[in-house]
Amino acid sequence: MMKNSMVFFNGDYLKKEDVRISPEDRGFLFGDGVYEVIKTYNGKMFEFEAHLSRLKNSLNGLEIQFEQFIELESICRNLLNKNELSDQDAAIYIEITRGVAKRSHCFPEEPVTPTVYMMANPCPSTRKEQEKGVKILFKPDIRWARCDIKSVALVPNVLATQQAKQKNAVETVFIRDGAVTEGASSNFFALLDNVLYTYPQSHYILSGITRKVVLELCPKIGIKVKEYPVLESHLDKADEMMIVSTINEIMPVIQYDDKKVGNATPGPVARKLQQALREKLSML
Ligand code: PMP
Repeated sequence: MMKNSMVFFNGDYLKKEDVRISPEDRGFLFGDGVYEVIKTYNGKMFEFEAHLSRLKNSLNGLEIQFEQFIELESICRNLLNKNELSDQDAAIYIEITRGVAKRSHCFPEEPVTPTVYMMANPCPSTRKEQEKGVKILFKPDIRWARCDIKSVALVPNVLATQQAKQKNAVETVFIRDGAVTEGASSNFFALLDNVLYTYPQSHYILSGITRKVVLELCPKIGIKVKEYPVLESHLDKADEMMIVSTINEIMPVIQYDDKKVGNATPGPVARKLQQALREKLSML
């Protein structure tokens, strides 16, 4: 790990170990906050505007009043520079909580200033896993019904990811009412009869930026894609599966639970999408 990582906290750049977060911060007490993770490639931010727009949606969803969006981009750049991350791949984390107030479930009576914490860390490549393909688990979706809000209250996702790890899988993908929604930290796609399906944008999934990019790339490279739920009962008919996210990019799934997907190697649609994404990234 980097020594003396420099982070941004409520207007100041500090060493990470010098940050002091109040025990009355509503992020700490209630998980009352939102976050974003933005990938940077050699110092260039990928889909920054889309992340900003999703951050605004998340803040609106929690009715957190935050106005300083205009400053976020330069803070991101400063964090990359201060941590010498401009010539490698990195991930920028932004968290905004409702702020500090005496503990009460209701919003604070007097307006409080939101807490803003941002950090930038090196982001190791997932290229090897992307080449080989990964294993996932399917589990019931035990999350709340506003998964479109990127809330820091992530305990169901934490439990699900730990369950995956214990079974040598990289991700747990959730099933709600018999349909596959999304992963604990990724969106899910499956290829059935040459059509790539993913759960429609709704309150039950996070509107993933990588998902959006895949939906944009598909028609350009001749892949039929539909925002339509994949049923649990159809999973054994899928020729390919993928999980996609900022960190994973396009990750082919070659095994779920104890079953193989296709012939247990990444399929041609996943390969085509990986290639198209890499071309897009090379133009950043
Ligand atoms: N769904 C969930 C629940 C996530 O946490 C993530 C990761 N942010 C995603 C989907 C993928 O979103 P993105 O492509 O924007 O990283």
